[in-house]
Amino acid sequence: MCEMPPGFPDAVAFLMTQVIPLLRRQRYTINMKQATLTTWRRVSQIAFILFIFLMPVLNILRIDSDTHELIIFGASWSFGIQPEYYADRSALGGLRIAGQFLLKGILPWVLFLAIFPLLGWLTGRLFCGWLCPEGALFELSDFLTLKLLGRRNLYGKRPNDPDDAKGKSLLYGAIAVLCAIFIPLSGGVALTGYFVAPKTIWRQIAAWDFTFGVKAGIIGVSIYMLITSIFVRHVLCRYVCAAGLMQMLFGWISPVSLRLRMDSARISACTDCKGCDRACFMNVTPRKNKRDISCVNCGACIEACNTELGMGKGLFHLAFGKSCALPEQNCRNIAPSPSGPVKT
Ligand code: SF4
Ligand code: SF4
Repeated sequence: MCEMPPGFPDAVAFLMTQVIPLLRRQRYTINMKQATLTTWRRVSQIAFILFIFLMPVLNILRIDSDTHELIIFGASWSFGIQPEYYADRSALGGLRIAGQFLLKGILPWVLFLAIFPLLGWLTGRLFCGWLCPEGALFELSDFLTLKLLGRRNLYGKRPNDPDDAKGKSLLYGAIAVLCAIFIPLSGGVALTGYFVAPKTIWRQIAAWDFTFGVKAGIIGVSIYMLITSIFVRHVLCRYVCAAGLMQMLFGWISPVSLRLRMDSARISACTDCKGCDRACFMNVTPRKNKRDISCVNCGACIEACNTELGMGKGLFHLAFGKSCALPEQNCRNIAPSPSGPVKT
């Protein structure tokens, strides 16, 4: 008969009494009608993380370290300049080379670099709130800090920190340690895969024998993720991240970008519960009703206000121009509906 390792009964007891009840309290099936904005946001964040992790594995985008070629959708990307082009010394030959260089060298980069300004122009900082893997990691760090210290920030309590948010230290301490080990390391392995073939990395992990490049990639990314998620977090989103700054700038100047709006005509309905302030991990004060470049259009304040005042009666909504951009149940007070606007 196989013998149980020492401590095994304790681990089972811990699992039964602490972890399983915690998991039970969460809703894992998405009821399409009742799914909250946060549920959808978590789904989109997880899906985008999986996409980032799988891109090099599926050869959607990576650099082949052996051939030094860029692989895009399984094919090697080259300027397409054939050796015979160089033999043609005429002006037409020169133009052909310049055209190939422009088409396959410069244009793709311009298009790639235009993604974030364009996203900012149309959707503000939606990418930061709904897709960015670093943003998701920082939110997880906030959550664990909240459960361990009773505040989101490592350096002190903020006015918008939720009250009584502290959880069981042992449980959340264990989760934090596991996250601090596995998330940076898996991020390191996944991102190194953009520069070294993922198969090569997994072979080296299986043999526990690493080349300098793979070791440097995994350790470098892991340290970066660990430091930013523990000590820096949303400060990086506000002041450092180039993608965030591009969205911020273009979202700010765009007349059409998606942004948070408050129904100021109904401000008297506000109960001053401060739910919207507490929900905002970017330290925006939504009730100021000003365009704030830190707002990532996450919708947490919309949900908080809907919880306080009733679904569809909350004071906030996300809008392109004047129309509400959310499903009707989130902003019936503004979106045109057959039954007319909700009255308070
Ligand atoms: S103001 Fe609202 S939508 Fe903007 S980041 Fe804060 S909680 Fe999210
Ligand atoms: S959540 Fe709504 S009701 Fe509560 S303070 Fe904010 S605006 Fe007022």
